[in-house]
Amino acid sequence: MKKVYLNPADMPTKWYNILSELPDMAPPISPATGKPVTPQEMTAIFPEPILEQEMSPQAWFDIPEKVLDILSLWRPTPLIRAERLEQALGTPCKIYYKYEGTSPAGSHKTNTAVPQAYFNKICGINRIATETGAGQWGSALSFASQIFDMQLRVYMVKVSYFQKPYRKSFMNMFGAEVIPSPSTMTNAGREALAKDPNSNGSLGLAISEAVEEAASRKDTNYALGSVLNHVILHQTLIGLEAQKQMELGGDYPDMVFASCGGGSNFGGIAAPFVKDKIDGKKVECIAVEPISCPTLTKGKYAFDYGDVAKLTPILKMYTLGHDFMPPAIHAGGLRYHGDSPIVSNLMNKGLIGARSVGQLDIFKYGTLFAKTEGIVPAPESAHAIAATALEALKCKETGEKKSLLFCLSGHGFFDMASYDQYLEGKLEDYAYPEEAIEESLKNLPQVDM
Ligand SMILES: *Cc1c(COP(=O)(O)O)cnc(C)c1O
Repeated sequence: MKKVYLNPADMPTKWYNILSELPDMAPPISPATGKPVTPQEMTAIFPEPILEQEMSPQAWFDIPEKVLDILSLWRPTPLIRAERLEQALGTPCKIYYKYEGTSPAGSHKTNTAVPQAYFNKICGINRIATETGAGQWGSALSFASQIFDMQLRVYMVKVSYFQKPYRKSFMNMFGAEVIPSPSTMTNAGREALAKDPNSNGSLGLAISEAVEEAASRKDTNYALGSVLNHVILHQTLIGLEAQKQMELGGDYPDMVFASCGGGSNFGGIAAPFVKDKIDGKKVECIAVEPISCPTLTKGKYAFDYGDVAKLTPILKMYTLGHDFMPPAIHAGGLRYHGDSPIVSNLMNKGLIGARSVGQLDIFKYGTLFAKTEGIVPAPESAHAIAATALEALKCKETGEKKSLLFCLSGHGFFDMASYDQYLEGKLEDYAYPEEAIEESLKNLPQVDM
């Protein structure tokens, strides 16, 4: 097979909930009480249906008709065999990728933006506050908010705001308001600026700003583009489609790779395969992260805050510490101190694995992928490409013929300034920031669970 397209009629109509296999998930803890969060605390910022998806152990959720209708603008997405990449690497492996860059915002994030906007809308909410790291989530939610005629304010991590001006233009085009974070509009932002007026910002800090705003305004809810259980649920369309497509193509992956920031594209492609693994199939799912923000490979499995200002619930997850400020790498979407509790639970049980790759390898293999397959990958997605390529090269040594599948989570058309820097030889390979992480891990909250 070269390419497998599914017919629109073959698009999955249910989301798969891996929580059904994880009865031991730790509950989110309220930062106010130190006890498990009550539904009342959560309804200040999330609508009921989202909260149900967040907590429920039921294995399948029907996708509402209206959501399927919007998703079908670009879904099902193609699964492609990367033959020219295989040849360039000289590997005996077969390499496949699931391409999520065909969505309106150019990444997998639109898969969850649409249902999140929808569930807020049907609950009478007309305004959302959110954050965005590299701009992909803000773009996706701008598109979705506009579809459902809702207002959107996006706190955008400052380093990305200046690195990626066209992401801001994109969001503005869809009617969203974009504010560089840290900003002077919230207490969290003002405090951060008082500490460091030149702060680059971080995802954790931008989350604080958006949550603070949503919690303090009755007309406004909050939406998160990754990490949480309902987000992984919405993203399982990637894995469910990929399973069907691999089967139609007459193959099954030995290994599945995806980049991992908050864990949503990884969780989305991996969850259905992890279920296969639990049922006895042989498949390895590998989350790929930056060496400079190595949450799963070097972090601690512990309770921690999701944000800098300690406003979010405390989650049991792999973390580098909520006040860890990652270096300003070009894969902004992977600069998060924590990780999805689902992905963390799977990691802790050994049901998945993790690898880290350096920035120069990212751009090296990202560029090779563009040259061979014709798609410029987002630097985030290039983490999955690099890890897959390195595995394929290892197999060249050992002669193993594996089938490798990776998630190409988005295109990199808004990231050309980063590619310019790489091509001009100006990119650095950031080291593993061991001391900063050690320092930050000292500030984990105490939770008696
Ligand atoms: C946001 C983003 C990521 C990282 O987020 P996850 O929630 O870990 O998937 C990866 N790739 C792209 C293209 C993104 O936009």
